[in-house]
Amino acid sequence: MKPILRISDLSTRFFTKSGQVNAVESLSMSIDDGEVFGIVGESGSGKSVTARSLIRLIESPGKITAGKIEYRNAEVADEIEDSNPEAVDGDYVDLAALPEDVVRSLRGPSFSMIFQDPESSFNPTLTVGEQIAEAVEVQRRASSNPRSVKSRTSSSAYSLRSYAYGTIMPNRSYVSSESKDRAVELLQQVGIPDPEERVDEYPHEYSGGMLQRAMIAQALAGEPDILVADEPTTALDVTIQAQVLNLLRDIQEETGMTILLITHNLGVIARMCDRVGVMYAGEIVERGTLSNIFDEAVHPYTKGLLGSIPDIGSAGGRLQPIEGNVPSLMDEEMGNRCYFADRCPKAMKTCLEKPADLSVDGAKEHEVQCVLAKEEYDESDALDPGQF
Ligand code: SF4
Ligand code: MG
Repeated sequence: MKPILRISDLSTRFFTKSGQVNAVESLSMSIDDGEVFGIVGESGSGKSVTARSLIRLIESPGKITAGKIEYRNAEVADEIEDSNPEAVDGDYVDLAALPEDVVRSLRGPSFSMIFQDPESSFNPTLTVGEQIAEAVEVQRRASSNPRSVKSRTSSSAYSLRSYAYGTIMPNRSYVSSESKDRAVELLQQVGIPDPEERVDEYPHEYSGGMLQRAMIAQALAGEPDILVADEPTTALDVTIQAQVLNLLRDIQEETGMTILLITHNLGVIARMCDRVGVMYAGEIVERGTLSNIFDEAVHPYTKGLLGSIPDIGSAGGRLQPIEGNVPSLMDEEMGNRCYFADRCPKAMKTCLEKPADLSVDGAKEHEVQCVLAKEEYDESDALDPGQF
């Protein structure tokens, strides 16, 4: 099956006063239709920037500076082809090559995002129901005129999604009673008790876990092909976390939607994902199926992450934090060597040349960016930490 997202050589940079930050560096990967793909890494590794890049939510001083983000949807490709022929290749549309208004029209019906902090996605002065209903209206307008991307983009009902993405406040005048009924159904679908009453409550009347469910309902209103979830449960307590993860998994099974899940927590990955990419310093350094990553990891960083978590960790369950920090991503020299070398217990002289993406034992789905995929560790070739 052809992947629903094909990302090639994607780079995202931030042009700050103190210099250029290479937050995502020549990233290539593909995500299959209907899978839950996880990206895991420490904070500062570039996970969130990757997620936001994929749906073009990078704001100044950030910029996607290279690469393609190809999204497969024959209908959308067909709609867009006349106005943006350079962005279309068969069934695929390159999101990186589309004008902002066209990308905006795809948020909701094609892809949608949920965040760690639901409070910031809701307007405190409108009821939860009004805000979900408005997301429903957006979808209605789009599907009542599916041949015209322009009609989607010109609708001011987009204010809601814009609000969710931090720019404009939603406007209650666009909400019809059918959309409100649909909002009740969506609240029911995400497990909000008494949705007929709760639909008229304000965000502050919801608990954190309920508001997170409501944000999921809002993200589902457009029936997106792809849901991007950035640390969706990090702010919740453990029991509620488990409930929200189960909910996401159930919804995925019911709808067949593709989920890109960003987390620093390998336990969340183990519970949710089909495939995983391990991210370090703006790159995916190892990727594969759950068993590739949990049972057959090759990259010392992946092994370090596995050793630093309580339930999945190796011998005796003792936690072994990875010494050192993610590099600043500003070092221009770094492009030529393995970015993990100064923290790596297996660093050798050969690691000062940048390792290519290698498949492990010829397995197509298990790839790693480390010389250990092809070479044994040779102690006589070891690097001292002082050699950087
Ligand atoms: Fe360690 Fe070398 Fe692999 Fe980098 S390439 S992770 S330094 S062994
Ligand atoms: Mg983050």
